[in-house]
Amino acid sequence: MKKKVFAFGLLSLTAAIVLGACGSRGGASDGSSDAGKEEGNAEQLVGAAIYKFDDTFMTGVRTAMSEAAKESGIKLELVDSQNKQPTQNEQVDTFITKGVNALAINAVDRTAAGPIIEKAKAKDLPIVFINREPEATDMESYDKVWYVGAKAEQSGTQSGQIIADYFTANPDADKNGDGVIQYVMLQGEPGHQDATLRTEYSIKAIEDAGFKTEKLAVDTAMWDKAKATDLMKSFITGQSLDKIEAVIANNDDMALGAIEALKSEGYNTGDAAKFMPVVGVDATAPALEAMKDGSLLGTVLNDAVNQGTATINVTKAAMDGKEINEANVGYPVTDGKYIWIDYVKVTKDNYAEFME
Ligand code: BGC
Repeated sequence: MKKKVFAFGLLSLTAAIVLGACGSRGGASDGSSDAGKEEGNAEQLVGAAIYKFDDTFMTGVRTAMSEAAKESGIKLELVDSQNKQPTQNEQVDTFITKGVNALAINAVDRTAAGPIIEKAKAKDLPIVFINREPEATDMESYDKVWYVGAKAEQSGTQSGQIIADYFTANPDADKNGDGVIQYVMLQGEPGHQDATLRTEYSIKAIEDAGFKTEKLAVDTAMWDKAKATDLMKSFITGQSLDKIEAVIANNDDMALGAIEALKSEGYNTGDAAKFMPVVGVDATAPALEAMKDGSLLGTVLNDAVNQGTATINVTKAAMDGKEINEANVGYPVTDGKYIWIDYVKVTKDNYAEFME
């Protein structure tokens, strides 16, 4: 996978610079053991809390964080906040009591970042948020807080363009020939910037390409595949399948859940006369498989490898007391605080490049 090679190449380079600058570092190389600690060269420990482990995309980010921690010789403790903000707050307290050197937080509720930042600030600890963007006022409240994520607008735009390109190439996809794309939308969690902005920008991109749109139904399936199957079934019952011309999902798990519901109606199983264009976001492994078998029209790479790697690189540089800039973390830094990882449009022309 192209991006991965790039990511690890970059990481090794960054790690080499960091290690070179620090002299040889002892400490655990597997990120999970206490073995090999050296006198006077204390091991660096990062406490990381993930909003919930049972999230396909965040599992990819977590894996990348572990790999990057190993490469840079820092110890990483990852905990599951089980989708409960009070649990995450307690985990942060425990990390601080334990004496971690930095925090990496995927907030359960991004509007609850303020008190966590206060706790980090009281101990002068660097803190990096991932994937769920804190409010700007919270980001400005401390000079050692950073955010690693992706611009949700970009993913919305790219997924809308995939739908627009499909309708341009297949005019018959406008089943009732009214010149309007009738769609249903499966949204992520309310309040998540990716749900709000992907919804808005996907439709904007379709309209910017010259199409009119009509929203037949919209609701949240909370990023979840099983919930999306149920929601799509209720859309089919409510709207009748003949009227729906496109399915837009804020992530791949929900796109795949919707495809399950479509398959049970005989759609997207290979019969060209019964194909519903479905688009998602993330480019997870199962989504790429669905593109290969033709049941998913397209997706957008939400680059878990580079987001996880950047998170670790920023914590490492901050723990080393370095300035957070491209030279020290391997990624461009915006306004001294934001590391934005680009999305990539994934279509039938390039999906194979992203497969393992
Ligand atoms: C991803 C979703 C994921 C969510 C978790 C989004 O960026 O696209 O798949 O569930 O982040 O916060």
